[in-house]
Amino acid sequence: MKIAVLKEAAGETRCAAIPETARKFIALGAEVSVEAGAGEGASMADAEFEAAGAKTGSRADVLKGAGIILAINGPDPQSLKGAESGAILVAALDPLGKREAIDGYATAGLEALAMEWMPRITRAQSMDILSSQSNLAGYKAVIDGAATYGRAFPMMMTAAGTVSPAKVFVMGVGVAGLQAIATAKRLGAQVSATDVRSATKEQIQSLGAKPIFVENVAGIEGEGSGGYATEMSEEYRKAQAELVSSHIAKQDIVVTTALIPGRPAPRLISDAQLATMRPGSVIVDLAAEAGGNVEGTVSGEQVEKHGVTIIGASNLARSLAADASALFARNLYNFLSAFWDKEQGRPVLPDDDEIVKAIRVTQGGKIVNDRLTQ
Ligand code: NAD
Repeated sequence: MKIAVLKEAAGETRCAAIPETARKFIALGAEVSVEAGAGEGASMADAEFEAAGAKTGSRADVLKGAGIILAINGPDPQSLKGAESGAILVAALDPLGKREAIDGYATAGLEALAMEWMPRITRAQSMDILSSQSNLAGYKAVIDGAATYGRAFPMMMTAAGTVSPAKVFVMGVGVAGLQAIATAKRLGAQVSATDVRSATKEQIQSLGAKPIFVENVAGIEGEGSGGYATEMSEEYRKAQAELVSSHIAKQDIVVTTALIPGRPAPRLISDAQLATMRPGSVIVDLAAEAGGNVEGTVSGEQVEKHGVTIIGASNLARSLAADASALFARNLYNFLSAFWDKEQGRPVLPDDDEIVKAIRVTQGGKIVNDRLTQ
């Protein structure tokens, strides 16, 4: 079984393999072929892949005879000319946003697997690219916020007087939010956090932060399907807005991460609430690509409103290319190795497997995923 690792398009720094995963695939009996320069954005030289036992070559070289194609983002189907019919393409494919590309993979006879549709089940935790990348994004959001903030994070008692600690508020305590809380705590800030899922209250406290919760209206007790949140009632949203209004005016840094699968991001901070914050405060909106949690967020840009800087964070994991590649590459290895059939020397993906059903989007020239066909 030959595994091709593609070089990503311009703007993407990450790589879908690292020398460690190349070595592990080879140990499974596979041959690994990495497109020249694929690791450059993440500071990995071709020579490191070669030292791990992989071959390197042009796109055409690596695709020729490959039964598995690994990438970070779904490649343009035109760029896959020469790929074998029936080859498995494993990447973040954005099937709802890039439907034309999905159709292109079907036409090319590829079996495309959308890794971001990995189900949230215990067995799939180590294969979950959304979690591995969100964790890094939560960390980087705080680092970027701190770099933009014109004051220090920790309390400092100096001969010239005391520097008071920064107050950091994290809205949305999923994978990114938890890492944002932990990072802000490590930097010495006073941290508070909120979520609609009541289960997060204990997690916030266990990280030494203060939970700020709507108490008089029911939230989502426990968790919705797959641990995700759903849209809240009008009554809840009103109570949440009041709570946020009274809290936010006292905050220096706000990190928002709230997402609802398949919907625009919930609006958590209005322009009027923004105006109550102290000039010089910073908001990092990790939901920017999904429309933003903050009124006025521009994805991929930094804007200033009422003296408050809003960072419309987009794909922060890319700015930690080496770590992001390592975690992403291990997610792909964990997935493929879990289905690897030693005798056949290739992964076998059963049609009735919960993971396979969730992520397989094309097969045998057709679109085969319910989320795309219904
Ligand atoms: P997410 O990225 O979908 O959303 C981020 C957070 O925003 C969530 O905690 C959500 O509850 C919150 N949120 C949504 N609407 C909100 C609102 N109006 N106000 C405030 N907060 C709001 O979430 P995520 O990071 O993917 O994680 C969600 C849960 O799934 C976590 O408990 C996580 O541990 C779990 N999870 C499990 C697995 C697994 O078992 N394989 C994998 C990943 C995540």
